[in-house]
Parts: sequence; structure tokens; C-alpha cells
Amino acid sequence: MERESLLTVLTILLGGMALQVIGAALSARLRAKRFCEPERLAWFRLLRPLIPALLVAACLCGWALSQPDPVPDRVGPLVFIVGAPFGLIGVRAILRAGWSLLRRPERLGIATIGLIQPQIIVAPELVRCLDDRAFRAALAHERAHVRHRDPLRIWVAQFVTDLQWPWSSAQRRFETWLAALEHARDDEARAGGIDGADLAAALVASIRFHRDSIAGVCASLIGNRSALEERVARLLQPLDPSRDNTPTTLQVAVLLTLALVTALALGALYGERLVVGPLLAVS
Ligand SMILES: [Zn+2]
Repeated sequence: MERESLLTVLTILLGGMALQVIGAALSARLRAKRFCEPERLAWFRLLRPLIPALLVAACLCGWALSQPDPVPDRVGPLVFIVGAPFGLIGVRAILRAGWSLLRRPERLGIATIGLIQPQIIVAPELVRCLDDRAFRAALAHERAHVRHRDPLRIWVAQFVTDLQWPWSSAQRRFETWLAALEHARDDEARAGGIDGADLAAALVASIRFHRDSIAGVCASLIGNRSALEERVARLLQPLDPSRDNTPTTLQVAVLLTLALVTALALGALYGERLVVGPLLAVS
């Protein structure tokens, strides 16, 4: 059998299985909503369930590198039967990601759109509803979204959440991160000299403006509607100076790279004997 074909089939089977096991385990110990955690921590929590699947994929890549092409192994029907649901979940996630790019945003007040080159769009009708200070505050919030390329991150986060369908814990982590994202951008705007009350005024005016929910991939001023009340109350409080002690993205990337290289090496050394051989023997 062609080596890359077997690698793809096994990655879908074992990677999908790892995602579902993690999704089930995290859903079983679902706790109350934690809307106040730092944005970076919420982002890592959102991506963390992918790690076992990535390690499995790296291990299989290591195995594939140690094998001739074509490989002498054959896949039995059981592998396809068990792996088909995981493949369908992946296809569903890809289709939803593609569809969200094709949908045009409707009736946006002020928002950041664009995955590669994010830009701010403003509805003239909303500008007429805002005084200068509130408009400057809304603009500062959206500029923070642009700096962090948030439309792209929202798109990736939705895709990662869809890969863990149908577990509710994944959707919960996505919503928690969206709320933390808006808090972080509010704080960034305020740290740059924007008054919280002006931002709250812009937020309330923007909510009145949006009669319909927003479609498409964008980072708007409103953000996650389920946490608006808490967010307005937070904006009227003094800015919390506490620091985020979550590991930096660089630290996490270095650790993850080390883990993936280790999995790759283990896959090359023991993949055939401990994983692929026994799996194909029972299929
Ligand atoms: Zn926002």
C-alpha cells in the first residue's frame, strides 16, 4: 500500500480517536463558566485538546519516515469503519471554516475583518450615534483587534472547536476565550489612555445599532453577547493592574516543538513494532 495513503488513514483514525477521548474526558468534568480568566490562558486551554492528536500525528510521521514506499502493510476494513466518523467530523469542520469565509458580514457597526490583512470597517450610521470620545474608544478597541490579528484567531479557534464536535466542553472553551478576548482588548484600549466609561458608551450604542446578529469572521466591538452585562460593569471599574502570569507563546511553542520532535523520534524507532503493526494485525 502507498505509504502516504496509509499515513493519512492512520492519522485520521488515531488522531480523531485522541480528540474524541480528550473531548469526552473534559466534558465529564465540566465546571461552571470561568469568564474572567486571562485571554492567553483561555487561548491555550482552547488549543490544548489538540496536543494528543498532534503527538499521535508526529509519531505516525516518524513511523512513515522509517518505512519503505510502498509499505508491505495493508489496511483491513475495520480501520475504515472505525475511522470514517472521525473523517466526517474533519470534513464538517473544513466545510464550516470555508462557509464562514464566504458569508458576508451583515449590518456591522464597527468591526475588524480580514484574516491576512485585518482592517476596521465602520458604519456611518453608527458614527452619527457616537460622540467623539466614544468613537475614539471604539476605534482603539478595534485597533487592538487588528494588532493581534483577531479575525484569524477567531477563525482558527472555531475550526479547533469544530474538530472536537460534538462535545459541549469545546464550545464552552470557545465562548470563554471569546469573552476573555474582548476583556483583553478593552484593557489594551484603556491602557492606551481610553476612558472605560467612553468605551462602555460606545458598546451600548453599538448594541442598539445591531438588531441582527453578526455573520462571518470578524472581531467586533460587541464580541460575545452572552457576557455583555459583565463587560459593561467591568469597564466602569478602575483598570485592574494585575499581570497575566500565563507562559508566553514562545515558551509554549518551544515545549510543544520538543514534544513533537520526541514523538517523531519514538515513532521512527518503535512505531512499527508498538503501534502500526499490532493495529493492522487486528484490523
Ligand atoms: Zn471586540
